[in-house]
Amino acid sequence: MRTDPRHRSDHSSTTLTRVRNMGILAHVDAGKTTVTERILYLTGATHKRGEVHDGTTVTDFDPQERDRGITIFAAAVSCLWDDHRINLIDTPGHVDFADEVERSLRVLDGAVAVFDAVAGVEPQSEAVWRQADRHAVPRIAFVNKLDRAGADLDSAVRSIRERLRTVPLVVQLPVGQEDGFTGVVDLLRMRALIWRKGHDSYEEGPVPDELRAEAERRRRLLEETVAELHSAALEEFCERSALTGPSLAAALRDLTHSGEGVVVLCGSAYRNCGIEPLLEAVVAYLPSPQDVPPVRGVHDGTEQERPADPDAPFAGLVFKVNSTATGRLTYVRVYAGTIQKGDAVLDAGSRRTERVGRILRVQADRHAEVDRAEAGDIVAVIGIKSARTGATLCAPAAPLLLEPPTTAAPVVTVA
Ligand code: GDP
Repeated sequence: MRTDPRHRSDHSSTTLTRVRNMGILAHVDAGKTTVTERILYLTGATHKRGEVHDGTTVTDFDPQERDRGITIFAAAVSCLWDDHRINLIDTPGHVDFADEVERSLRVLDGAVAVFDAVAGVEPQSEAVWRQADRHAVPRIAFVNKLDRAGADLDSAVRSIRERLRTVPLVVQLPVGQEDGFTGVVDLLRMRALIWRKGHDSYEEGPVPDELRAEAERRRRLLEETVAELHSAALEEFCERSALTGPSLAAALRDLTHSGEGVVVLCGSAYRNCGIEPLLEAVVAYLPSPQDVPPVRGVHDGTEQERPADPDAPFAGLVFKVNSTATGRLTYVRVYAGTIQKGDAVLDAGSRRTERVGRILRVQADRHAEVDRAEAGDIVAVIGIKSARTGATLCAPAAPLLLEPPTTAAPVVTVA
């Protein structure tokens, strides 16, 4: 039995391969906020469990968001799981905020798409999925609300295949249905994970006899689908599999990174059921900043690449500016190099020099001050006076413009 959430209190340094910059994409009401809450709770980023209906959730910290019950403003929250730092970049689920989604997708390395097990793929999830396609963001899927009356994993998976035109790679089989839903069979390990009602732990055991034949059938189906996808790109796969090992998990990782398929998990965030395997899948399948192509930009009319290396010249993108009680928080995705407190950085678009004041890692309900931020990090910087959303910040000695400066991105005031 697992009882201890695998969280660490040390946020100081994590190697690049152990960082996941991810977002949660969903149609409004699919359960994005609840999934986020459960992740933050399990990883120890927050010790109280926020509930959506009583307005105590920690990511929706803007009163307007709470009132309207939708996530309007993106916020990046950092948490630790199994020695990995997961930076959760919030992406609005509401269709009116396509621009915000676009900006968030720009700084993500991977995403979890959350679907409602009754409704399947809904129009907004389809729209956001297409946006993520355009940014080539590797994704995994979480079919939520399996406890609801009418919940049906198979029909949700069918809608993923048909409406999103992708190949679902289902790695779990639900144990029980609707109100009787209690857990999943992990088809990779062929083990059953059963959650205890109201507890933050699960029992792991053998696959129940009555599900054994179905679990074996689904496992074979998964293997066949993976083999088929691989044979379509056999040469490339052989090269990569030599690096990652020939296991099914490694193949799923390759297919996720290349966008050839989408790993599908399921659960009930409301019942706190299925979130640990989801976190394990984030770590196992979604890319680290090192797995994605180096960032590209322009300087003096020539295109340049800058590697995700802490020793390279600094380049980062401002993807959100919030005016808060703590100060003007400039959220920066650091792509290359390192910034430290006191550093001068150049806003490549406006050509203004800015000074890095404090560097904060936002952890759900508090801000943790850190000395430096390195390639792959997502942090909030205090002290940047005028750089706006979309601005590139870079080393003054090595200018690079990652994205044309935006003209009218607002500074959001958070009460
Ligand atoms: P969001 O709009 O995608 O952020 O969705 P929320 O997390 O706010 O969830 C919408 C509603 O669905 C809330 O009333 C949640 O309590 C409920 N909900 C979320 N997850 C589940 C689940 O796993 N099962 C059930 N039955 N309800 C859920």
